[in-house]
Amino acid sequence: MHHQTIIIGAGIAGLLAARTLHDAGARVTVLEKSRGVGGRLATKRVGDAVFDQGAQYFTVKDLRFASWVERWEAAGVVTRWAGGPQTRYIARPSMTAVAKALSDGLDVKREHKVTAIGSCGDHWCVDIEDHGCVRAERILLTAPVPQALTLLKAGEFALPEALAKRLTALTYDPCLALLVTLGGRSRLPAEGVRREGGAIRWAADNQAKGVSPNVAAVTLHLAADFSTEHYGRTDAEVLELIRAEAEDLIGAPIAGATLHRWKFSHARNTDPEPFIWWPEEQLGFAGDAFGGPRVEGAALSGLTLAECVKAELARQVG
Ligand SMILES: Cc1cc2nc3c(=O)[nH]c(=O)nc-3n(C[C@H](O)[C@H](O)[C@H](O)COP(=O)(O)OP(=O)(O)OC[C@H]3O[C@@H](n4cnc5c(N)ncnc54)[C@H](O)[C@@H]3O)c2cc1C
Repeated sequence: MHHQTIIIGAGIAGLLAARTLHDAGARVTVLEKSRGVGGRLATKRVGDAVFDQGAQYFTVKDLRFASWVERWEAAGVVTRWAGGPQTRYIARPSMTAVAKALSDGLDVKREHKVTAIGSCGDHWCVDIEDHGCVRAERILLTAPVPQALTLLKAGEFALPEALAKRLTALTYDPCLALLVTLGGRSRLPAEGVRREGGAIRWAADNQAKGVSPNVAAVTLHLAADFSTEHYGRTDAEVLELIRAEAEDLIGAPIAGATLHRWKFSHARNTDPEPFIWWPEEQLGFAGDAFGGPRVEGAALSGLTLAECVKAELARQVG
């Protein structure tokens, strides 16, 4: 099958890029390896407990992103959340709602894990696990950069040395997310707690947030140093390491815990450009390693890459 544009990754960057190109009349397919959309805008259910396990909220500075957020707010997809010097937004009923709203009407193929991307003359060949190979005229890569580079390497596509060096320099911190249920009421403030110094960097009560209406469910994000050091430990081992600090913070005993390991959580160093577009090869890169290590940065990266491709397509037609 031949595709005009393939976007790899249905996180906020990939979906905003897809939406922008689709709305301009381009034929776009998004390939996503997971069962759901959103990437690091992620919600997890454990029994009756529901957790925002990735991004907790987002902020807005840039008018281009603000116009999307206004639309989502008017549609009830996002709402303002307490706390912080800047207005914080959360999605309803949980953070993945933004991605679900964006995917509406788009050709998003879930459980399509790309394993290699190679150049085959005037088009790209994309290998997808259990789905064979598809062709595309252009590729926009929005997976975390180390993963994107692995795909090109597997397809034996060599980037020019300077570009390869620039992209290899973009690294991410891991984050262990411990999702806990409680044997009592949490005393966490509704707007969550950000901390420095200990093993726990962030704690939020998903019940107070409205994400887990029926059951107390607390998301704990562990600090980058701690997450790096203990990344390979089991769920139970990590829980025992942080139990005392967590129970003291939450004010209730932990009844159960599930660990999610984010290998690429926050971009540690970002590229100065908001995206990379290589017109001769019709290859682009976007995501939070370009726009800034947060939801807004990733969104702007996807949006601006798509605007650049859209302008090029318009020139071709004209
Ligand atoms: C624990 C944690 C807490 C955070 N907290 C905040 C916060 O409070 N506020 C904030 O603004 N930001 C926060 N962030 C950062 C924010 O979530 C990210 O910057 C943003 O969501 C990144 O979006 P993206 O589209 O660039 O990448 P992603 O969301 O990672 O999307 C990339 C997508 O590519 C897919 N993919 C990867 N490889 C393949 C493949 N081979 N084939 C097909 N698909 C593939 C992935 O499954 C994923 O869906 C947090 C992140 C984490 C992990």
